[in-house]
Amino acid sequence: MRPQSLFAIFGDIGALPGIGPRLKGLVARVAGPRIVDLLWTLPTGLVDRRHAPKVAEAVIGEIATVTVRIDAHEQPGAPRRPYRVICSDETGFLTLVFFHAKQDWLEKTYPVGETRVVSGRVDEFGGGRQMTHPDFTVPVVEADSIRTVHPVYPLTQGLTRTVMKRAVDGALDRAAALPEWADANLLAQRQWPGWSEALRRAHRPESAADLLPDSAARSRLAYDELLATQLALLLVRQRQRRLQGRALDGDGGLRAKISGALPYSLTGSQNAALAEIVRDMAAPARMARMLQGDVGSGKTVVALLAMAAAVEARGQAALMAPTEILARQHLETLRRLAAPAGLRVELLTGRLKGAGRKALTAEIEARSVDIVVGTHALFSEDVTFRDLALIVIDEQHRFGVQQRMALAGKGSGVDTLTMTATPIPRTLMLAAYGDIDTSKLTEKPAGRRPVDTRAMPLDRLDRVAAGIRRTIDSGAQAFWVCPLVDESDVLDVTAATARHAWLQERFGGPRSHAVELIHGRMKPAEKDAAMQRFIDNETAVLVATTVVEVGVDVPNASVMVVEHAERFGLAQLHQLRGRIGRGARKSSCVLLYEPPLGETARARIDVLRKTDDGFVIAEEDLRLRGGGEALGTRQSGMPAFRLARFPEHGDLLEIARTDARVALERDPELNGPRSEALRTLLYLFEREEGVRMLRSG
Ligand code: ADP
Ligand code: MG
Repeated sequence: MRPQSLFAIFGDIGALPGIGPRLKGLVARVAGPRIVDLLWTLPTGLVDRRHAPKVAEAVIGEIATVTVRIDAHEQPGAPRRPYRVICSDETGFLTLVFFHAKQDWLEKTYPVGETRVVSGRVDEFGGGRQMTHPDFTVPVVEADSIRTVHPVYPLTQGLTRTVMKRAVDGALDRAAALPEWADANLLAQRQWPGWSEALRRAHRPESAADLLPDSAARSRLAYDELLATQLALLLVRQRQRRLQGRALDGDGGLRAKISGALPYSLTGSQNAALAEIVRDMAAPARMARMLQGDVGSGKTVVALLAMAAAVEARGQAALMAPTEILARQHLETLRRLAAPAGLRVELLTGRLKGAGRKALTAEIEARSVDIVVGTHALFSEDVTFRDLALIVIDEQHRFGVQQRMALAGKGSGVDTLTMTATPIPRTLMLAAYGDIDTSKLTEKPAGRRPVDTRAMPLDRLDRVAAGIRRTIDSGAQAFWVCPLVDESDVLDVTAATARHAWLQERFGGPRSHAVELIHGRMKPAEKDAAMQRFIDNETAVLVATTVVEVGVDVPNASVMVVEHAERFGLAQLHQLRGRIGRGARKSSCVLLYEPPLGETARARIDVLRKTDDGFVIAEEDLRLRGGGEALGTRQSGMPAFRLARFPEHGDLLEIARTDARVALERDPELNGPRSEALRTLLYLFEREEGVRMLRSG
């Protein structure tokens, strides 16, 4: 149960003073629905109005708060010209400029002959100084009310900074001090404030330095989040170690049959990874290993051989894929490869219903099925394995910890192997997974042709279309990916729909030249059907929004066009490019960008042109994004960090890891009085997996 001390901040934003139902929706759009979400939404900048120079000393382009006498009003000489208010102090003139302002309001606000304090950005125009639409104008006695610093938050249409400030102030009022979980020495050494004080300071920056990740307040908060995560991970691991695993010791017979029939030999990396996996499986402890390898690095066959090892030891295996279509693709591949060993592989997804489903679940229970491939449906209660020994999870991040645990509960001492196609930099790996065992596929299977990658401005669309025509004339296929325009996918769909129409007009016609569209708003079944037509080469061009994962293997596709490539992250572009270059054809990836290309976007494209190594790209991605966005975005697929940033908080990660370990050595169940604060911390950051370990431990 969440401790009482956290109730106040886990409430709804609508409970804050002055935040009614309408404003609640707007605040929730930028922060999230709960008060705690608002607390984690730190300012992105600040506006400093304390700078109060004389007019002549005001820095051009900067915000200043100046005290001036109103000298005269100048009405617009012609329509659409601005209204001017001429002001001055003893050092010079300042012209206030207004477009579309009401004259009576201006006369009331700026009475000639009086003195006012105005605050806004000072610009230079025609040799003079001017301020267009001052942000604030007050009489001299009220000067202090505007000579302040205020934080800048992300806003959305209709949400003013005043409302946002009110909401944050309300949230901070509810964030009462909590028992201290951080080590006293650490706090002293780093001069960190307590948690609630750190929050207050982080939300009320006094200078630009306070906004930096290494400020005392922000470091402290990041540390808290990292400590919570590391504690949770260690608790899960501690529990996993305690659970009896089983020694799966196969004789290698099935594996030999499968390997012997492969049309290729395994790469060195594949062999090494497999050896690590099989060794873990043979050990009595429970395996929790991650197999990392770029798209196309050949994870599937490694997974199959691991599953065969489980079957040799008289167990069953399950492979979970994130989508129906990927599950189907796995089924086909596995059936084909496993046939020589006589393994029975079946598919179980949410679409299998009624009698068919009953029959299959009965066979699974009777162990007449060796390997079950499926989606979330594998978690369903009606699915019971006779003896589930190994679970393989493809694309790890799509499944929550909870779901994985539910599946693990379907067998006793089940080993798990998770596969991810997004190489993860080491720091992030530790931050998100702790010391999970990993195997990496660093070599590409032989015969891969490098993909020709080039960047072009968007206005070369016609040339790109001509290239695609040649591609499809030759019988190959092409992907065309449209960008994420907005958080909501409405605009994406519009953009993709328009592009689809445009391409269809150019090609269209016979089936071999048909253009298909898939996007995030389609029903899953429609989407799958469209995808299937592309896989079956019934359509030539597949236009897709990024909301739709193009995570399929279509060796006949040899062109990947990414529109507005400048809006994509590096890892994401790499993933997309990995979809081609799988067959015998020469493949090319065209990155269409909107000029002018920013520095980071150019650097990203350069990296892609230079290397095809996912691990190198992952590290570069982290470096390029440095200081930028927090993790947990769709593109990284990593668990969300609200406050910690990488690589900036990498050093804190190491400290948090050590501290978490020490805390658990002292009190493994965190039930002593000294651990109360740590338990609160776990709840505060919703590291539920850790908390559950305690409860059920
Ligand atoms: P991913 O790691 O993306 O899941 P896959 O397992 O789908 O990669 O493998 C990609 C392709 O590479 C498949 O067509 C597979 O048959 C092929 N492949 C896998 N291992 C090898 C190998 N050692 N030599 C040659 N081709 C291989
Ligand atoms: Mg795969």
